Amino acid sequence: MCKKSYATPAPSPELLIFNNSLAEELNLSSLAKDRSRCIEIFSGSEILQGSQPIAQAYAGHQFGHFNPTLGDGRALLLGEIVNTNGELKDIQLKGSGPTPFSRRGDGKSALGPVLREYLISESMYVLGIPTTRALAAIKTGENVQREQELPGGVMTRVASSHIRVGSFEYAYKSKNQSLIRDLADYSINRHFPETAAVENPYLAFFAAVCNEQASLVANWMSIGFIHGVMNTDNMTISGETIDYGPCAFMDAYDPSTVFSSIDNNGRYSYENQPKILTWNLTRLAETLIPLVHKDQNEAIKLLTEVLQLIRPVYTNYWLSSMRSKIGLSKEDQDDINLISQLLNLMKTYKVDFTLCFRYLSKALVGDIKSIKNLFKNDIAFDNWMTLWKERVSQESISDEKIASSMNAVNPLYIPRNHKVEEALEAAVFENNMKPFLKLHDILKNPYNEVKEFHEYEKPVKNSSVRYKTFCGT
Ligand code: AMP
Ligand code: MG
Repeated sequence: MCKKSYATPAPSPELLIFNNSLAEELNLSSLAKDRSRCIEIFSGSEILQGSQPIAQAYAGHQFGHFNPTLGDGRALLLGEIVNTNGELKDIQLKGSGPTPFSRRGDGKSALGPVLREYLISESMYVLGIPTTRALAAIKTGENVQREQELPGGVMTRVASSHIRVGSFEYAYKSKNQSLIRDLADYSINRHFPETAAVENPYLAFFAAVCNEQASLVANWMSIGFIHGVMNTDNMTISGETIDYGPCAFMDAYDPSTVFSSIDNNGRYSYENQPKILTWNLTRLAETLIPLVHKDQNEAIKLLTEVLQLIRPVYTNYWLSSMRSKIGLSKEDQDDINLISQLLNLMKTYKVDFTLCFRYLSKALVGDIKSIKNLFKNDIAFDNWMTLWKERVSQESISDEKIASSMNAVNPLYIPRNHKVEEALEAAVFENNMKPFLKLHDILKNPYNEVKEFHEYEKPVKNSSVRYKTFCGT
């Protein structure tokens, strides 16, 4: 399922940012001290001892259509490394030149999407959301041809693995009968070893992937994150967020929000993410039929039972994070109504998703004006507040404590779209990394309010034009 491949060395590489703390976790801190070696390795010029770079094959459903031959067209897996916790991590270059899977593409990346992935994936990590990480971003010194010529870049990505739903689809469709079993056994061993010992390991493996992915999508929903291109080749088995292309955070709450310029029908809109979760996992289930039971009908029955649990499992995760967002730690069966009523009001008044939860906690400790302003002082919101405060009082915890528990789960600083664009514009077109580095620094402490960073809290003013994002190709 992979082919040997090599990077095309960049003509005059420059290291724009390096993740020292991640390097330490990966036992690479000595490397971190040697900048010129970092540049050699993470631009693809030097191959580390023991590394045999490979490009992985995978298939995938893209916007619902099956493509049997995708694969790492602009990515190169340098190898695996054991981190300080004893966990195995993949280190991969993205944008280091053509591979056997590049088809008509150049195998390269523009610098903007490289920096975007760096910033947003690291922000997701800080927010506690399972994700691939960013180790380095290189400016290659050559331009890549897109709609216009753009400066090129190489991103170094670290992941628990790069096994995707699309990897299973590739193995299933291949003529090699044992490939799917080998892949499943490898994945079980690498990600869910506890499922190896149960009666039906492949079914248990499937249930474990469903659980991780349901938790992941609930996490996304709880911070207003829209992945933007949930094709099956962009969904990991490990449950990490992968492939930061057209992703973005929602400002005004509108469940139908879509940012991606190519998602014309809103297939991957905010509200559709939980539905696509099940759709994608159904594609994974199909590939496991031969492993789950020798009787095909029995296999389908068993897998369907697990598929039917995804929605309730997802809803539990979602409800649990939404409860924490509004300061509730006990469970009451009416909580779901309370949360839905709030979301409906947020939709009506196009309330900023992130600020809403921060201002709610302020309301508990004296500042009621900020939140009321967001809802245009509507009496319907006052009524909701009365119900909410009654419910909060059942927690028997002081309002101050509840407010601080809310502030610990509701970020104040997210990668605001206009701030991301500003930072990328300066880095790519003005050779100025300062706005990027400042934003990156602010996003490292998303929960603690700092007065001088006030402008980083807010969405863009009077945005009449829909924010559009593009795949990083
Ligand atoms: P993505 O949009 O990142 O999910 O990529 C979808 C597919 O297109 C994957 O197989 C990529 O490897 C491939 N691809 C994207 N960009 C390029 C490129 N510049 N050159 C070659 N292949 C690419
Ligand atoms: Mg992809």
